[in-house]
Amino acid sequence: MMRTGVFFHEMFSGREWLIIGNKFRNFPKVMEKVLKLPQVTLFCPEKVPEALLLKVHTRRFLEDLKRAWYRDGALYSVGGCVEAIDRILSGDMDNALVFTVAAGHHAERDSAWGGTYASCAGPAFYHARERFGPLKMAILDTDRHHGNGTRDIFRDEDHVLHVCFCHQDIIEGSGTKVCVNTAYPHTDESYLQVVQEEFIPRAMGFKPHLILHNLGHDTCQLDYGDLGLTPEFYPRLVKEIKACSEQLCSGRYVVLTHGGRRADVAEYIFPEIIKILAQ
Ligand SMILES: [Zn+2]
Ligand SMILES: [Zn+2]
Repeated sequence: MMRTGVFFHEMFSGREWLIIGNKFRNFPKVMEKVLKLPQVTLFCPEKVPEALLLKVHTRRFLEDLKRAWYRDGALYSVGGCVEAIDRILSGDMDNALVFTVAAGHHAERDSAWGGTYASCAGPAFYHARERFGPLKMAILDTDRHHGNGTRDIFRDEDHVLHVCFCHQDIIEGSGTKVCVNTAYPHTDESYLQVVQEEFIPRAMGFKPHLILHNLGHDTCQLDYGDLGLTPEFYPRLVKEIKACSEQLCSGRYVVLTHGGRRADVAEYIFPEIIKILAQ
């Protein structure tokens, strides 16, 4: 059994966020049952401090963010990611599911687009490194789109492995920055196989202290990044990566919600994912 944290702020529901829409409209209600598991704890995140955002973003970028209507969503999302990683490395919990809106993998140092307007991984990594010393983090990105922001922020950071499943094949940064072209129709099995072949061996070689997973479900059938995957795919993927984290880094695994706007898919997969994380 694992101790699992779920980071969700009430303000994430009931609002049309850019790109992902109002897919969390029925949260946290739809998680009610799994949140009652004794090993699962629901946290209401705090806003990330400005000083932490400034470790990866420019002052100009931050001033723009502060004027945007989606600011609070972004600040709470990043705050949840920072706290989840902090608590896992402190030994408070083993793994976590962090809900995000308006923050994530398209936020570069000085620009952002695509529904994500602040980096989650950057502030969380640099905060943890300051608090716990040398840290190696493996980032798996299975959202449909290229994680340009994550790549930009960690371009020169050898202690971050970034394996991004998008529309191109790239290997850079002496092998720690990788894109794998998965932009073609898949079955659940074929996508899972690519992740097994392209992420797991790299993570094994890298030996991270923690795995961070940008879990977009925009790749689901009928969503805006449709690759033919079914809703059942996402819990299966988490099961696979969780097993990998148990082998590699004592189960230290953080799942971040990313793209996808189908509310029915979100309502099905995230309670399932919590159940799997808590097993
Ligand atoms: Zn996406
Ligand atoms: Zn990519």
